[in-house]
Amino acid sequence: MVEESIIVVGGGIAGLTSAALLAKEGYQVTLVEAHTQLGGCAGTFQRGPYTFDVGATQVAGLEIGGIHHRLFNYLDIPIPNAKILNPGCCVVLGDGTRPINLWHDPFLWENERQKQFPGSEIFWSLCSYIHKSNWSFVERDPILPFRNFWDLSQLIRAIRPSNLLTGVLSKLTIADLLVMTGCQRDRRLRRFLDLQLKLYSQEPANRTSALYGATVLQMAQSPRGLWHLHGSMQILSDLLKNSFLRDGGKLLIGHRVTNIVNEKKSNTFNVDIVDRKKNLISMNASDVVFSLPPQSLLDLIPVNGGLSTTYRNSISKLPKPSGALVFYGALGRAELPVDCPGHIQLFDKQFGSLFISISMENDQRAPVGMATLIASIFVDIDQWSNLDSQSYSIKKDIVAKQITTIINNHFRLTENSWSHQEFSTPRSFERWTGRPRGIVGGLGQHPSQFGPFGLSSRTPLHGLWLCGDSIYPGEGTAGVSQSALMVVRQLMKNKGRHLRIPIFN
Ligand SMILES: Cc1cc2nc3c(=O)[nH]c(=O)nc-3n(C[C@H](O)[C@H](O)[C@H](O)COP(=O)(O)OP(=O)(O)OC[C@H]3O[C@@H](n4cnc5c(N)ncnc54)[C@H](O)[C@@H]3O)c2cc1C
Repeated sequence: MVEESIIVVGGGIAGLTSAALLAKEGYQVTLVEAHTQLGGCAGTFQRGPYTFDVGATQVAGLEIGGIHHRLFNYLDIPIPNAKILNPGCCVVLGDGTRPINLWHDPFLWENERQKQFPGSEIFWSLCSYIHKSNWSFVERDPILPFRNFWDLSQLIRAIRPSNLLTGVLSKLTIADLLVMTGCQRDRRLRRFLDLQLKLYSQEPANRTSALYGATVLQMAQSPRGLWHLHGSMQILSDLLKNSFLRDGGKLLIGHRVTNIVNEKKSNTFNVDIVDRKKNLISMNASDVVFSLPPQSLLDLIPVNGGLSTTYRNSISKLPKPSGALVFYGALGRAELPVDCPGHIQLFDKQFGSLFISISMENDQRAPVGMATLIASIFVDIDQWSNLDSQSYSIKKDIVAKQITTIINNHFRLTENSWSHQEFSTPRSFERWTGRPRGIVGGLGQHPSQFGPFGLSSRTPLHGLWLCGDSIYPGEGTAGVSQSALMVVRQLMKNKGRHLRIPIFN
């Protein structure tokens, strides 16, 4: 047993994963979660007979060798029951043309894209090459961005010859790849890419790093894939929690971290925590793993709390992330088309991308014969954060109506079709997840922010570590799990130990 006390702040997938790994390695870990439920953006809530996933609805990385599979295997917890999504998504460009199905089978997908975007195969071949090269790199658990010799050694260990070739593209965008391959005039292809990338990178094609974009554009295809969890997204958090508690972790749920101060003399952290009855608990730790958006550091560490002014300034200048509007509805399955895909992305002139997830029959989200339907849109948080309560509630009603109308028109539904409707805004996400102003999805994957150019998990404060969707490799439950693994490896190395999680090929 290693006698080190570590506090993990935040019980979303990033915090839970790092806490579970550290507890398994024998550290004394306290995980502090402000909400009464774990999971954060990948949590769920209940309304009568319906279970709604708060944010994340699809999971990557459950296939053999995928990050969730590797970590669950290592933690000795069962891989959750899930179905591969085929298609991973059905993209409707809104121009009257046939929807594009992201088939799981790579040959079917190749066939589909050749029919949908004739003449673009050279672009897709380049993306495929980058995609394969990147995965062989990511699977070897590189540390990015590197901040010391050990980080660099882990980066070099992960690099394969193909990465040296693709590395020259690191400052390019997906739009640059379109130009390089002569596909820049294909407007349908461009709209498709803009829509898909907005979902995974928070940015359109001309602002998404070529290396990141090429990696996520083929995430739905074998040997990777997107999965639908049986039950709800909450199962991921429940399994990680079980692992953490089994290994002796201490869980403070419904407890909010309010203050973190670095004690210079002892080089430890004093962390103030408030419970639901407003009782104050003060704890001491050698390390703090911080899984909230890094912008929250500015509120939680006072000006004299140890963080340098330069670092504080760099955090306050980070690019502004998006917020999310989410519609949660329930209806009779018979109201939906037969063979309706589970995940649909619609183009809308006003909102851009509307991402719809529909529950499967018997997946425990809705009673037999019923379905839940969740639709999300990424928006500018400034449009929502500075409103007085009256303007906010008027705006919320108007936008909810607009979004319901888009869904009703697409599926030919009426107001009477719905047995439940509810709508959340960035303010709701701020309340649920404590994320400042309801920012979600990390920093965006512009070439200036991606990988080696992003925010480091090491901070200038020895013992304060960052993970979560603002840290490499970025958003998604798979991304934040990878960031958690990275930070645990760095932290353990600092304490003279090595963590290696087996890879599966
Ligand atoms: C609408 C939407 C749709 C999405 N769809 C998908 C998808 O289909 N697939 C996918 O993989 N990803 C998806 N994502 C992204 C994914 O959900 C996130 O990237 C990921 O869940 C973030 O995990 P995290 O642990 O970094 O942060 P969070 O989930 O935000 O966790 C942070 C936790 O910290 C807690 N907390 C906050 N403040 C404090 C405090 N002061 N003290 C203690 N605890 C605190 C919060 O309550 C929360 O539980 C989606 C996100 C959104 C918003």
